[in-house]
Amino acid sequence: MSDDGVIKLDNVIPFQQPTITLSIKATSQKPLCRHNKVELDSDFRMIRCKQCGGQIEPFDWIKQYANRERNLKWEFENLQEKQKRLTASIKELNAEEKRLRARVSRLKRKPE
Ligand SMILES: [Zn+2]
Repeated sequence: MSDDGVIKLDNVIPFQQPTITLSIKATSQKPLCRHNKVELDSDFRMIRCKQCGGQIEPFDWIKQYANRERNLKWEFENLQEKQKRLTASIKELNAEEKRLRARVSRLKRKPE
């Protein structure tokens, strides 16, 4: 501050406004591997994924395999039921087609 009460700014170095740059790096995470292809390492008694190379807990793999089997069985049963319904539907449609063809044939023969 000078004698006249005025603040001189000659010797004041202004603060530089910091430049803030935010950068978000995209993570290169691999998609979750389902370990669909595995190999057994008999020497080390391990299960290893052929796709990601990860070591798999044997119990987890057996559990996952059992769940897949159960889901496949459930899906197979559902498909069998759907097949039965569709077969019955086709049978009904064939019968309807036969009735309609017979009706058209009768109408064509009918004298006017
Ligand atoms: Zn894997």
